[in-house]
Amino acid sequence: MSDIIQLLPDSVANQIAAGEVIQRPASVVKELVENAIDAKADSITINIKDAGKTLIQIIDNGIGMSDTDARLSFERHATSKIRNADDLFAISTMGFRGEALASIAAIAHVELKTKQEDNEIGTQIIIEGSKVNSQEATSCVKGTNFAVKNLFYNVPARRKFLKSNTTEFGHIISEFQRIALANPEVEFKLYNNNSEVYLLPKTNIRQRIVSVFGKRINQNLITIESNTSIISIKGFIGKPEYARKKSGEQFFFINNRYMRNPYFYKAILNAYAQILQPETVPSYFLFLEADPSTLDVNIHPTKTEIKFEDQQAIWQIIHSAVKQALGKNNIAPSIDFNQEQGFDIPVLSKETEFKTPRIDIDHSFNPFETKSTFNKNPKSSALSLEKENLANWDKLYDGFEKENQQSDDFSSFSNENNQQSITDTSISEKYFHVKNKYILTPVKSGLMIIDQKRAHERILFEKFLQTLSIQSSATQTSLYPKTIELDPKDHILLMDINNDLKNLGFDIEDFGGNSIVINGMPADSSNQEPEQIIDKFLNEYSSGEVDAKTQAKEKIAKSLAKASAISSNQKLSNEEMREMVDMLFACQNPNYSPFGKLIVSIIKTDELEKRFI
Ligand code: ADP
Ligand code: MG
Repeated sequence: MSDIIQLLPDSVANQIAAGEVIQRPASVVKELVENAIDAKADSITINIKDAGKTLIQIIDNGIGMSDTDARLSFERHATSKIRNADDLFAISTMGFRGEALASIAAIAHVELKTKQEDNEIGTQIIIEGSKVNSQEATSCVKGTNFAVKNLFYNVPARRKFLKSNTTEFGHIISEFQRIALANPEVEFKLYNNNSEVYLLPKTNIRQRIVSVFGKRINQNLITIESNTSIISIKGFIGKPEYARKKSGEQFFFINNRYMRNPYFYKAILNAYAQILQPETVPSYFLFLEADPSTLDVNIHPTKTEIKFEDQQAIWQIIHSAVKQALGKNNIAPSIDFNQEQGFDIPVLSKETEFKTPRIDIDHSFNPFETKSTFNKNPKSSALSLEKENLANWDKLYDGFEKENQQSDDFSSFSNENNQQSITDTSISEKYFHVKNKYILTPVKSGLMIIDQKRAHERILFEKFLQTLSIQSSATQTSLYPKTIELDPKDHILLMDINNDLKNLGFDIEDFGGNSIVINGMPADSSNQEPEQIIDKFLNEYSSGEVDAKTQAKEKIAKSLAKASAISSNQKLSNEEMREMVDMLFACQNPNYSPFGKLIVSIIKTDELEKRFI
């Protein structure tokens, strides 16, 4: 029998390797920028077109490469960073597998220009699908300039698998942020389709965090520092009240390289236990330094997961360092850090985020009345005739009846009650407010309890969803224009859905950089500051991923309903409670909030009676 084993051609081997190293445009950005840093660049410019699908260009002012090195750099296992296996354990540079360039060149059109300081002239290489098309002398500045075009042009399955530009660019920003935070002494510029996304001057770590995440973070950072023989930790953690629902400001670095570490993350969460709002995660930027020989960095192909020799001890050290920093912050909030710059932007202060908003109730004022689009049905107006209210109450029971068939929650409802209820409702227009949170009212079958915040979320959600689906413009309150600065991901996200937001009554303009101007808000937003609503909205909307158009609309409506709904401790007048109940039962699904939480519960009469036996 003849031999059947063959060596794969390099181009094929490289393509296979590329599958591991280059998953998406963001991986190219990561590899090339890390190379630039390893080459001692202190200024790096990144040009992206179409989220990297068309172009990824990285320009650095580092040491550059000789003609021969430039050619060799595209070979697999070509690296200047290790010489033998021992080097692997002492490695302190970013990449060390010598695979990145070979992989990129296998699946894209690559153009490299590079020049070393001492050379008069540089070299240019054009390589496509691992095939060198040309190498010639060229005049260029010191440093290296990589242009990667048409990524995955020869791997259609991969290209098809790429997500929307917003999602892919989001990944690029994540990689960018990790590297930018770890290298504050390097200047970075990031452009997307020729518009500036980040311009980060050389600075210190604290200022770098502020330039990456916006000025608002500055007053929310608590310094952390701990030095032990196993590990040293420095950096910042976020104040508990700054904790967000979305993750995105959680960073561990080990020896100046980003790492994921779910185990150490638990140490942090654990230290914050009991002091976070539910479902929020704290921000942290922790820079760990350890002897490289105590780490195994090479266990994951993209090298973000790292194994430590003394996992448990380090867990304890992180845990107590965070606890200590939090404790200090609590006892002496005024002396916890040096304000490097006096920022004058309107920030959501501790108070606005945490304290119960104080609301002066004007009892003649009905916040729902002005909300003409709330419900186009006159039945729910405060002045409507009793008969019409009855119709709504009728609906109430309809709702339950429907729900009855689907869920067990209301299975105790008897049809008898449903049928008789209507005649009874005129005497049930009494509402009791408990803890400014629950609306109580007697109904035929017993005592009905409504969660006001969830009810309002449901009402707003259905209204927003309807507005979005009919593409009509909602009424709007115009504001004294407010400018707010967002982080770039949120900025892109918001601009992406700006049309939908316009339909809902927002008037938001792109103000350049990562800022927006809010000129108008939906008329029925509760009495919160616009920046607070936008902030809550983005926090909700950006958690998780949505791609399909319809899902996106639903998510917008949901997030906005949550952001705009009244709080769980807002005082309501009898009239307002009545309005709320009416509008709730005009909804298609009055029983559950858009997030699937129960809105209405009933204590049945016989349950009440049992209590008094
Ligand atoms: P690795 O970074 O693991 O060594 P790469 O494939 O990323 O492997 O790069 C191969 C080699 O090319 C590097 O070791 C380095 O010598 C050279 N190189 C890559 N990018 C640059 C750059 N921007 N400036 C100077 N040299 C570079
Ligand atoms: Mg590399």
